[in-house]
Amino acid sequence: MPPNGQQEREKSQPERSRFEAMFTCAPIGVVIADRDGQAVQVNPSFCAMMDQPAEELLGASLIETMTHGEDIATERTLFDSLVEGQRSSYQIEKRYVRSDRQIVWASVKAQARVGDDGAVAEVILMIEDITARRDAEQALRSSETKMRMLSDTVMDGLIMIDHQGCVRHWSRAAVQMFGYSVDEAIGRRMHMLVMPHDDVANAERGLAEFQHTGTGPIIGQNVQYLAQRRNGERFPAEISVSPIKVDGKWWAVGTVRDITLRQKTQDATQQAAQRAEEIAEQLKVALRESEEHRLTAEQLAIKAREADRAKTQFLTDMSHEIRTPMTAVLGYTDILLRGDIAPQEQWNFLQSIKTNGRALLDLINQILDQSKIEAGRMDAQTVRLAPWDLLQEVDTLMRPRIEAKGLAFDIKYLGPIPQVIQTDAMKLRQILVNLIGNAIKFTEQGEISLTTRCQENEQGKLMLAMTVSDTGIGISRDMLKRIFSPYQQDEAQNKQSKDASPGTGLGLSISRKLAELLGGDITVESQVGHGSHFTVTIDPGPLDDVRMVSAPTITRLENPAVDSHRPPSPQLTGKVIVAEDTVATAIMLEFLLKDMGLDVQIAETGRVCCDMVFDAASRGEKYDLIIMDIHMPEMDGYQATRILRQLNYDVPILAVTARAMPSDRERCARAGCDDYITKPIDLEYFTQRVKEFITSPQTANRLRQ
Ligand code: ADP
Repeated sequence: MPPNGQQEREKSQPERSRFEAMFTCAPIGVVIADRDGQAVQVNPSFCAMMDQPAEELLGASLIETMTHGEDIATERTLFDSLVEGQRSSYQIEKRYVRSDRQIVWASVKAQARVGDDGAVAEVILMIEDITARRDAEQALRSSETKMRMLSDTVMDGLIMIDHQGCVRHWSRAAVQMFGYSVDEAIGRRMHMLVMPHDDVANAERGLAEFQHTGTGPIIGQNVQYLAQRRNGERFPAEISVSPIKVDGKWWAVGTVRDITLRQKTQDATQQAAQRAEEIAEQLKVALRESEEHRLTAEQLAIKAREADRAKTQFLTDMSHEIRTPMTAVLGYTDILLRGDIAPQEQWNFLQSIKTNGRALLDLINQILDQSKIEAGRMDAQTVRLAPWDLLQEVDTLMRPRIEAKGLAFDIKYLGPIPQVIQTDAMKLRQILVNLIGNAIKFTEQGEISLTTRCQENEQGKLMLAMTVSDTGIGISRDMLKRIFSPYQQDEAQNKQSKDASPGTGLGLSISRKLAELLGGDITVESQVGHGSHFTVTIDPGPLDDVRMVSAPTITRLENPAVDSHRPPSPQLTGKVIVAEDTVATAIMLEFLLKDMGLDVQIAETGRVCCDMVFDAASRGEKYDLIIMDIHMPEMDGYQATRILRQLNYDVPILAVTARAMPSDRERCARAGCDDYITKPIDLEYFTQRVKEFITSPQTANRLRQ
């Protein structure tokens, strides 16, 4: 409450003196102004503030005279409202202007004193000189402005935090980088603004350490971290933090740099470097590969040259192999055609023609086998057979040649062997004949043996093994390495052999392929000068119900496939057509059939053959057998057979073909033939089949059953 006149009057003297003392001694300016704002009383502190004696100040307007022009209006309004009683006091920070034009900043508190009439009698103003503070504030403001301007010019975000981790400075770059305005950022915990929230706990621990010590994991160094913008987007940043001590507490100033671009560049550079390394590596690999290819190409070229050389050698040998027996065949034939040869010599010459003819056939068979193997068309025709029978057959076949050369031949058995096996008898025979043939060829003295036994292979399966051993010239190490490759021969060694025929170099290669076809293999052991051992193994087929027998108890198995019984030439009755365009073959077959007592007619083409059948039918007659050559002009054997079958003529047809592939058998069967035989014709087999067709046509058929 302001003092009023009554109270004033009632004030005691000591009170008054106290007021005077306070007024005079107050460290701040105290001025009593009238209702217009003119100084009525000023104390020494105000005089000092204004640097003027009291006499100059008294009567002057505190507002219009002493106040800075920019502050007059404001204070006048406040002062008048005070005088009008609209307020009892006011406070203002304002500027006084001293007589020397210096500005004094002051904090003014004005209090109205109400007179007895209830109106404001005077105004008491307490005036504190705050020039120093304002100057300091101004200086701070300007330095802050400068700092902001500076901090705003740098590209890096500049952030200052106080000892509590709250943002005190947030530069424009920080605004752009993190998306929080200055107002939004100031006062908030920095960690919440600049990093993914799941990382904040960790960072706060670092801050706690910093608050105590002024150091921490990121202080004083460049650290990369994953920053997060307001919109949640994360980016790689580099931060560098320096500590500053403010009022004994640790504050920190940090720069934050968005290094997305730098990292991308780095990544791109790294990728480029990596790619360059990869390309270099690929180049190295490519170079290595090309070197390997070059070497392979060289090796292939060497192999090709070797193969070429082997084939050239083969052709030379073949020429020899064919011309030698051909010379004998044609030479003896010429001699016989002269017609003046004694019967004994005739027989000898004919034997020679037959032997050489067989040699030619063997040669052709070998070449055919090799081409079948190369075409992957060799397959096995498995039959049941007794090994004993087969070995006896081989014995019968080979012993005369072996003994003719003055060598011994022994067939041995080691331990029991299966009584019956399932294999391709012809192919097994072919292998053994070839191995024994070689043994004969390369052995001049001593013996040849064929030893049969059972042995387990690497997989524990029981195999039948047959070893052909000789006491001949043996095989060199070099030759052993390539002995099973086609067209390979040891020329030096072959010269040692007294055998005139150089061979084709195909026998062992074919034999090994055949052995593989029979589920086994051929191996060789040999020493030059000490002879050789060739062992052929074959899969004997299922042996569950098969007896294992020792040599003395081995008995023959009745098996038509290997039955060596040869019936005498039969005497038959019946009418036969020989459909054959090759005159020589036709005459030979006519001779054989007539020899059996049969009535024979020859047809040069399939059409003539069909006409003969139709003619006979028109007379109510029929033929008992047609020997049908497959390859004939005008109408071949297949067509003729098909026509006859389509017209329901059921006369037995035995096809004759020079081709011996399994597919030919199928074609014959499809056309309607009852069986087929291959050229050159095995006369015994031919005779046997003709007899079967004539005597029991219902069961003779082998293809159509
Ligand atoms: P060829 O039909 O020329 O005899 P092979 O393949 O049967 O062809 O044999 C190839 C070569 O292996 C023969 O030329 C010979 O050098 C050698 N050879 C084969 N068997 C024997 C053996 N029992 N003793 C010595 N050398 C052999």
